[in-house]
Amino acid sequence: MSQAAIDRAVAEQASWMEDLLVALVEQPTVLGAEEGGQALMARAFADCGLEVESIAMDAAAIRADPRHSPFSWDVAGKRNVVATWRGEGGGVGGGRSVVLNGHVDVVPPASETLWTSPPFVARRDGDWLYGRGAGDMKAGLVAMVGAVKALRDAGISLRGDVTLQSVVEEECTGNGALQCLLAGSGAGADAAVLTEPHHDHFTLAQVGVLWFHVDVRGVPAHAARASTSGFNALDAVHRVLAELRALEAELNAERAGHAWYADHEHPINLNPGILHGGDWASTVPAEATLSCRLALYPGQDPADLQRRVEAAVARVPFGATVRYSGFRCEGCQVDADEPVVRVLGDAYRSVHRAPAALRATTATTDARHFVARGIPAICFGPEAEDIHGIDERVSLPSVGEVARVLARFLVAWCGESNDKGPPVSAAHGGESSHVHR
Ligand SMILES: [Zn+2]
Repeated sequence: MSQAAIDRAVAEQASWMEDLLVALVEQPTVLGAEEGGQALMARAFADCGLEVESIAMDAAAIRADPRHSPFSWDVAGKRNVVATWRGEGGGVGGGRSVVLNGHVDVVPPASETLWTSPPFVARRDGDWLYGRGAGDMKAGLVAMVGAVKALRDAGISLRGDVTLQSVVEEECTGNGALQCLLAGSGAGADAAVLTEPHHDHFTLAQVGVLWFHVDVRGVPAHAARASTSGFNALDAVHRVLAELRALEAELNAERAGHAWYADHEHPINLNPGILHGGDWASTVPAEATLSCRLALYPGQDPADLQRRVEAAVARVPFGATVRYSGFRCEGCQVDADEPVVRVLGDAYRSVHRAPAALRATTATTDARHFVARGIPAICFGPEAEDIHGIDERVSLPSVGEVARVLARFLVAWCGESNDKGPPVSAAHGGESSHVHR
């Protein structure tokens, strides 16, 4: 199939893709409310003519895996949605296989009142589509399924398997992607592409992330006597935070030993994200909880960081304990010489006439679960702005561009099967030599 034919096939999906993106953005798929989005993804996979499989979240199976992240909420009734386009290559010796993975969950809107329009109403303005999760990463889900639908509607057969995965809980634990791999979906793949909003580069390295919650015990008293009695748990949180900021500085000072991050000014970010405490303005608060996110370098053991966090918190001269729920994961890195980096790079260059940069991110993604199983995983996807912020938006033309890159990549990576149908004509000249092998 020629590059021009692939591009035409993707272009034909433009309105199907935009409609799917709008519908996805209008499902407020925050933690615990992912199903509305998963139902849409199941239908999108079925629209490709693929058999849809649900992989239920199984708390016991997740907790039994050493790479799970702890969680304090109920996962019963939640599912990941997957579908596999079987290649004609006959398994080993056939074409190479790949997983296209995206997450359907989104973070909360941060502050609805600051948004120009409601965060879960998709608003189009020129080339941009606004809404929470539009960029991170519903547009990526749309691009990956759009690429597959384009190729299938065009009647092409591939030699290797393409597995589509729409997962839950990427933003809090990564346990959705883990559950897919535990169930065997994509577990033996030759590569994975996660269509996170990394649009002009491929992300090959990422930090690990630890979520922790510090409970501070106060002594309640009437506010009128606060200067002589009681102990204010909310005031005390500042002491805890000072110790944690000192640990953050210590961790950043260690960056020289970590190749991907040595030249980064501040790779390790501590984020105090939630503070709860007290129950009355005239009562000295009896308790407070500070919930934080802290990063770690690839190659570091999250257990080591847990010990350092606990040691920092232990330096305060009052009762404070550390609990864990949410991310507890390693960083990871992929070798730039991996064949998938080259083949995806060729596809990118053939569309954009410029190479994609290779980068490290100071965030985590589900890519780590694939890398931990020896599957090289790259993040690459549509162009987004203000993810996790206000007025998050995604560039609509970039969704089509990513779908074109992915479609060209799938043909090059998995190989085109000539076993059935009319002979296909390979395009020669121009940029096609980058993709056809
Ligand atoms: Zn994301």
